[in-house]
Amino acid sequence: MNNRKKMLLTILMTLFLIFLAGIFIQHRIVAMLNNAAEHSVSRQTEDLSMLAGERFLRFLTPLQTAANHLSTHEQDKEAVLQMLVQQNPQGQAGLIDFQHHTMGRFLSRDSFPRLQLAFHGNTIIDYNPDIGILLATPVFYGDNVRYVLYQVYPLEMLPKLFALSDYDAFTHVIIQYRDGTLAVPYENYTTDDTKFWADDTIQAGMKEVHRRLQRSKAAAVYTEGAEGKFFVFGADLPQTDFSLIGYMPWSAVAGQITSIYQRVFFLFSFMLILFACLSIYLLMAQTSVAETEELREARQAADAANQAKSQFLANMSHEIRTPINAISGMNEMILRQELPAEVRKYASNIKSATAALLTIINEILDFSKIESGHMEIVPTDYQLAQVLREVGTLVGVRAHAKNLAFKIHVDPYLPNGLYGDAGRLRQILINLLNNAIKYTPSGSVTLDISGQRSASTLRLRAAVTDTGIGIREEDRARLFHVFERLDIKRNCQIEGTGLGLAITHRLLNMMKGTIQVDSTYGEGSTFTIELPQEVHSFDPIGVFNLNAQPDLDTNLSHQASFIAPDARVLIVDDNDMNCFVASSLLKETQMQTTIAHSGAEALETLQKQSFHVVLLDYMMPGMDGVETLHKAKQLQGISSTRFIALTATALSGSREKFLGEGFDNYLSKPMTGDELTAMLHRYLPAELIKPAPASLPPMAAPAPAPAAEAPPATAADTPSSPLIDRELGMKYCNNMEAIYHNILGMFSKQSTGKIARLDEDFATGNWDDYRINIHALKSTALTIGCRSLNQKAKEQEQAAKDYLAEDAAPSQKQQALDYLQQHHADIMALYRQTAEAANPQ
Ligand code: ADP
Repeated sequence: MNNRKKMLLTILMTLFLIFLAGIFIQHRIVAMLNNAAEHSVSRQTEDLSMLAGERFLRFLTPLQTAANHLSTHEQDKEAVLQMLVQQNPQGQAGLIDFQHHTMGRFLSRDSFPRLQLAFHGNTIIDYNPDIGILLATPVFYGDNVRYVLYQVYPLEMLPKLFALSDYDAFTHVIIQYRDGTLAVPYENYTTDDTKFWADDTIQAGMKEVHRRLQRSKAAAVYTEGAEGKFFVFGADLPQTDFSLIGYMPWSAVAGQITSIYQRVFFLFSFMLILFACLSIYLLMAQTSVAETEELREARQAADAANQAKSQFLANMSHEIRTPINAISGMNEMILRQELPAEVRKYASNIKSATAALLTIINEILDFSKIESGHMEIVPTDYQLAQVLREVGTLVGVRAHAKNLAFKIHVDPYLPNGLYGDAGRLRQILINLLNNAIKYTPSGSVTLDISGQRSASTLRLRAAVTDTGIGIREEDRARLFHVFERLDIKRNCQIEGTGLGLAITHRLLNMMKGTIQVDSTYGEGSTFTIELPQEVHSFDPIGVFNLNAQPDLDTNLSHQASFIAPDARVLIVDDNDMNCFVASSLLKETQMQTTIAHSGAEALETLQKQSFHVVLLDYMMPGMDGVETLHKAKQLQGISSTRFIALTATALSGSREKFLGEGFDNYLSKPMTGDELTAMLHRYLPAELIKPAPASLPPMAAPAPAPAAEAPPATAADTPSSPLIDRELGMKYCNNMEAIYHNILGMFSKQSTGKIARLDEDFATGNWDDYRINIHALKSTALTIGCRSLNQKAKEQEQAAKDYLAEDAAPSQKQQALDYLQQHHADIMALYRQTAEAANPQ
């Protein structure tokens, strides 16, 4: 704002200066032009005066010649007079002597006062407004004047006499004696003219003319006064005692000047307008710059708000996930028990519901992705029945709570094994069903699943019908707008954001699906979606019964659901502990596991022997997981080997990243036994997988089942410490005491060497290795159940990462380095403490 004021002031000042300059220049130009005009008028006057003088002499010369003749031939008086009249009929010639006797044209001495001067020997010209113009010259006898010879011209002769007709109508000329007395005025000379000539400015101008006449033959001066703008001029009539003076109005001369003046004026106005336009443009540009600035600030604020929102969502979903994890963990413990059928049903419902809930939490996180255009569709193989069961369970509970009947009709001939984004399908169905429940006060909500198959694609069709409030015809167009809620008056009690259908619509678009709405206001609505999905198994889904016990759950008590004694699995991890955990977890599946501690070792092993699955640590010193994978893929006979990445850093988008690198899938460390075996079940050749022998008791070797069986023994076996969450550690060991016991021992034993390495890397600034080793510490700490060390290592790893980042600014690098230096000693101290606490001895 301040800047704009300054700018405006500058522009106004500049305009003012230009205006002043304009006036100055205009004055200068006018002065110069007037000078030039003066010059030209004086030249003109000079020319005219020559002409006038010449013409005047033409009248005077015969008179003087005649006078000369008479002075010697007095007797020729009559003849001379006659001759003069003959020569010049307008001029009545006459002769007058001292006694006032006249001959020829009569002349009273009083009518022309200057006549007297002629008797003193001068040639005169005199003027009488009533009579005319008198030209008179003396006739000498010796030195004395005896007569005066004269001619009287009528006034009309005046122009002719002095060639004054050459002047234009605006120009007035007077013939004067050189001393300034009037000889002959112009025609129609009145008292006004006398007044004009008496005007001060004109007088001053004339004075200047006379002054200049002393040096040149003609002069003209521009005057500007009460009478107006004029040029006054004067010139001597050559060979006479007369001068010619006159004036003309400025405008008569200034025709051209005016046009030049106008052009200058136009140019200046044009410049001013241009400048004004430029100023306005600048002002507008300045304004728009200010606006862009404001916009940028607004965007920054919006970005910050969005960031805060995303952060909040991330935090919240994390906070929610933790208790849900606890619920599902507890529930899993319950499911592992021998249970009455009823209780098992409840527990498996809890399991499905928590799974769906977790998905929703993840979807909340996805909102921000949709908004920023980062939402991705990730297709996988999935079981349609499984998705419907999860959706049905979640929705069924809600419908039941609202006393609504909830029905699912599924075409039993639909293929069950589909390929598509099951998470998004689930999200869409849940959205539509939730809406149906929300906007239905009583009656029923029905989900109809059908589809049309063509080749290997199924056009899956899901129709959600409710007996609710319905949607008005005119509202339907706004149904899929973001934050748009309809019929607000009626729906104000119902919670909602107005995002659900917008997201549903966009997701369907992304998956090439469609959505359609039929509704009768007051009676209910049907939302129908169609979504193309690939079919990967044509086994029909069969009669779908939401309340039926899902197959999966019957097997849920913890035991190896399969064995694969011929399967060969290579575990590659630089960390002994991780290798040990993985191989221990796989023991009950009877798979043949081999361990390699580095990428190089893995490649060597792969050359010697073929494996069905390789579990490959992502981050290892030396050759990392990706490099090892790429090299391994070039080996002979590797094409059927599947590679699973093991990573301690699972972020959103990790999956795509690993698949992009060429991995078949990935597991987050620490992983549970179930996760590991499920993954292997998926990637091992089907013929190697055999059902677990029924005789095998649940929770077979090497460790007994958790908790109840021998609580005092477990507590004694593995130390408990505030630093170590035993339950957490046990979880990662499939609750197998023996494994846990072992890894605690390993953790403790390895600590000295690992601390020494970390110290050395820290001291020598070998941040690459430092990062890898602190990364390893992060996951091993969690595996044994030490959250604080895990957290600290995680932060330290982030600092090392920041320090090593290629695009880090020097200040960020320094900040990261400071952080590393401030925290290293503490972390090592905590590591030592934890190792001590973990030591089973
Ligand atoms: P909300 O969070 O408000 O439910 P949605 O985007 O899911 O947001 O829905 C937008 C609006 O569409 C709702 O506010 C509601 O007015 C209307 N609507 C959605 N589904 C139904 C339905 N089954 N019956 C009646 N109105 C519905």
